[in-house]
Amino acid sequence: MYDVIVIGAGAAGLMAAATAARNGKKVLLMEKMEKAGRKIRISGKGRCNVTNARPPEEFKESIRTNADFFEVAFAEFNNKATIRLFERLGVKLDIERGQRVFPHSGKAWDIANALVDYCLDNEVEIAYNTRVNRILTLDGKIYGVTYINKRGFERKEEAENVIIATGGVSYPGTGSTGDGYIFADQVGHTIEEVRPSLTPLRTSHPQRKYLDGLRLKNIQARLIVEDEVVKEEFGEISFSDRGIEGAVALRVSRDAVDALIDEKRVKLVIDMKPALTEEMLQERIHREIEEMQPDEFFSELLRKLVPKHLVMPIAHEMDVHSKNYIRKITDAEINRLIKILKGFVFPITDYAPFEFAVVTAGGVRCDEVNKYTMESLKVKGLYFAGEVLDIDANTGGYNLQIAFSTGRLAGQLKK
Ligand SMILES: Cc1cc2nc3c(=O)[nH]c(=O)nc-3n(C[C@H](O)[C@H](O)[C@H](O)COP(=O)(O)OP(=O)(O)OC[C@H]3O[C@@H](n4cnc5c(N)ncnc54)[C@H](O)[C@@H]3O)c2cc1C
Repeated sequence: MYDVIVIGAGAAGLMAAATAARNGKKVLLMEKMEKAGRKIRISGKGRCNVTNARPPEEFKESIRTNADFFEVAFAEFNNKATIRLFERLGVKLDIERGQRVFPHSGKAWDIANALVDYCLDNEVEIAYNTRVNRILTLDGKIYGVTYINKRGFERKEEAENVIIATGGVSYPGTGSTGDGYIFADQVGHTIEEVRPSLTPLRTSHPQRKYLDGLRLKNIQARLIVEDEVVKEEFGEISFSDRGIEGAVALRVSRDAVDALIDEKRVKLVIDMKPALTEEMLQERIHREIEEMQPDEFFSELLRKLVPKHLVMPIAHEMDVHSKNYIRKITDAEINRLIKILKGFVFPITDYAPFEFAVVTAGGVRCDEVNKYTMESLKVKGLYFAGEVLDIDANTGGYNLQIAFSTGRLAGQLKK
């Protein structure tokens, strides 16, 4: 008989299991995949942005949903505590631009392996290839789970406490397929509508086919919903067959997705030259033209101003043939070019599905969970941790911190 069963060996489940075991509890951690922390291993492009080192009092600003609920778990185990823990576990960390914290080795595996070792050193038993298919309750109390074992047979395991740390539904290939929502729903919890967050955005721009592989640094992007600017971001953007991505696009994606779900008109307007005013840009363009031969093409002027992927889209947008001679370009056309460089409009008509979303927005409603313990307010002995909860944040190491803080608190099994 175990004191606690933790469902899911992701960031939240590993932290919860190790915490409970450190406090002397007999812990069984059940993971349906063949290894732990598959999502951690691919996080931060394989480097794992494990947390963010900005002052704890500023942390809340980057939590998008239920920041007040999260505050208690964060106070219990904050970003500084995460950094201390990993260094104690032997993972040297570096702080990079934007206060993002990464393992010095550049390997996300080091974070996942350190958490697994943290569990094993504290005598957590880990059962891999073991999929929980039901949680068992009686008279408003949890008493265990049933699961499908590695041979495909259903078995039962009893425990007075169960922690659901099954994650969301993004990148389902890592094992996060939303099982926790079903368990929670079955015992009377409400699930806040789930939707992709930090996900590539899709444009209906007629020239989008030219943009695959384009990466723009230091741009200013405005997200416009129904003619109103709802978000402004500075940084990098890129284009691929998944859609418009890169830090800037991902940061505005949460608002864009919500607006698209509500069938609102959404645009992403990109200023490709934010450091230059229109007047400065005009001077620059005239300078470039003066240095060119009159029989050079307009496309060659554009190549001096933007990456090649943008030549055709800008020429189309201006309704000027790219093979026009530069001597034939009028002042009115130069003014149009300036407007486009300062505000290229991408109509946003869709977003990439959960398969490509970094996190899931929505999940188990926080007002049905005790924020001081992470215990369910509906079922005694049932706890939640990590992305399964309706908490999500921006990019920058915040989402893993949510998993660590809520995992730590849930693992304390406070009543
Ligand atoms: C590509 C990518 C990159 C990311 N990069 C970063 C980053 O650099 N920094 C950052 O802060 N965040 C990042 N995130 C987000 C972050 O990884 C997640 O928010 C975080 O890992 C969630 O942790 P979790 O433990 O709640 O859930 P998960 O990591 O999803 O873990 C849930 C676990 O539960 C298991 N499970 C599910 N159902 C069952 C069941 N029925 N029985 C048994 N086991 C089950 C799953 O197999 C899985 O192992 C990234 C996400 C993605 C997809």
